[in-house]
Amino acid sequence: DTLFDLLASTVGKEGDREAAIFLQQNRRFTWKTLGEAVDAFAGGLHRLGLAKGDRVGIWSPNRWEWLVTQYATARLGLILVNINPAYRTAELEYALTKVGCKALVTAESFKSSDYLQMLATLAPELTAAGSGPLNAARLPDLRYVIHMGEGARPGMLSFNQVSADGEQVSRDELNAISATLTQDEPINIQFTSGTTGAPKGATLTHANIVNNGHFVTAAMKLTAQDRLCIPVPFYHCFGMVMGSIGCVTKGATMVFPGEGFDPAATLNAVQQETCTALYGVPTMFVAMLDHSEFKNFDVSSLRTGIMAGAPCPIEVMKRVVSQMHMSEVTIAYGMTETSPVSFQSAIDDPLERRVTTVGRVHPHVEVKIVGDDGETLKPGVRGELCTRGYSVMQGYWDDPVRTTEAIDAEGWMHTGDLAVIDDEGYCNIVGRVKDLVIRGGENVYPREIEEFLYRHPKIREVQVFGVPDPRYGEEVCAWIVPKAGETISEDEIKAFCKEQIAHYKVPRYVRFKTELPTTVTGKAQKFMMRDAMLDELG
Ligand code: ATP
Ligand code: MG
Repeated sequence: DTLFDLLASTVGKEGDREAAIFLQQNRRFTWKTLGEAVDAFAGGLHRLGLAKGDRVGIWSPNRWEWLVTQYATARLGLILVNINPAYRTAELEYALTKVGCKALVTAESFKSSDYLQMLATLAPELTAAGSGPLNAARLPDLRYVIHMGEGARPGMLSFNQVSADGEQVSRDELNAISATLTQDEPINIQFTSGTTGAPKGATLTHANIVNNGHFVTAAMKLTAQDRLCIPVPFYHCFGMVMGSIGCVTKGATMVFPGEGFDPAATLNAVQQETCTALYGVPTMFVAMLDHSEFKNFDVSSLRTGIMAGAPCPIEVMKRVVSQMHMSEVTIAYGMTETSPVSFQSAIDDPLERRVTTVGRVHPHVEVKIVGDDGETLKPGVRGELCTRGYSVMQGYWDDPVRTTEAIDAEGWMHTGDLAVIDDEGYCNIVGRVKDLVIRGGENVYPREIEEFLYRHPKIREVQVFGVPDPRYGEEVCAWIVPKAGETISEDEIKAFCKEQIAHYKVPRYVRFKTELPTTVTGKAQKFMMRDAMLDELG
């Protein structure tokens, strides 16, 4: 099925049931009204002359217009380009020109920054009078900017007006276009999180993301009776594939607490909308569990959910099960390039397995673990994880060099993650190949030290990484965020490690921080920490 076929079939089956709720914008859709909004906006895009294969960027936090744009572009075979809401002018220019977006759908404002103002600096032509197609020198492919706010903006079109015009286009005309699409065509360009450096644009097909959305929610046994709370960003595969597409495959209701992540707003959304499932990266769950008001929220409606995107500390998983009632919580492992999920725990896996592994491989995905020379390793031996199957992306957009570095001639995606798979197929992600610290010839796995330090009662967050050292090649460094109201000394940390872990794993440098540099998805960016240490150590 194409992505639009999927939506159409759910609209047909679930009709007047609730499809999506946007609490901050106070807007609720049934499947039927969602289908109508999608048709109207698709009609509007069609009238603007946008056609199959054209790229349409979306630069916005989680708003209802995002959801509508996702399926409206799919209806016409337009390639949706997810642009990180945290991007600023230079990054936006890079993303728009890299993939040649013909239209950009964007929001009025997000927190303190004003997207429209940033755009105007890139395309001063926008502020000139007139409403014909844009012709900006720095953004030569861009024809239309569609803004989500109320009222007219010089040089831009309003989302509501485009939709109103689109209602003139008949459903038959739209259906005729949708009928020409096939599932192996690209439908989406998603940028990776930028955890290890500059984000890369992965080109994904209908088949990639529709099937992955199905398997992800099937693993949680999600049904049309479930209500999934989605505080993770739409722009990322966690929100748009595992969240949005996952819910459409089952007819489950999506609940969006707000534009950006806020722990209290998320807990409130779960309580108010009696959500049965919740998504988050580990740092989001920590922020909710440690929130001063946590005990005042009733989250007992929760049953399942997914923690993913970054290593999930065992202690956090245990608290999610016991304090958030998510007895059927799963862990998923994946990457943007593989649509994204390839491993996920089952809701009936023993808890010990669920907290210590990322579960077993998804249906229709092949895996192997390879050593330094590319040889396939036996179960139980750590090496680089490779995956192959329907879920592997077409490639990085317009980047054949990096594509062939990532996907080999036999179709194996080299994930860049270190993993061990046991005899029963349970997989443990040990860290990133790039994160491995080699200290005086010994391999040190930062993840192992992080897990150990999380047992310290005063530590809220910790990241371990290597810094260059003239004597040992690399030394171990830890950045620690203490729990609210706690102070810890470096000596305390070293004493805690002594006699518990090997001397070469004990962090040589310990730094205390109030927060860590992260991506908008909440992933710690070790390359930023490493750069800061390089500056400090000279
Ligand atoms: P970039 O590729 O731009 O540096 P990124 O790899 O973080 O950023 P994503 O595609 O969003 O971008 O994330 C995929 C990565 O996240 C995986 O390769 C893996 O390192 C990590 N990851 C995802 N899920 C898990 C998990 N459950 N446990 C451990 N690590 C995970
Ligand atoms: Mg990556």
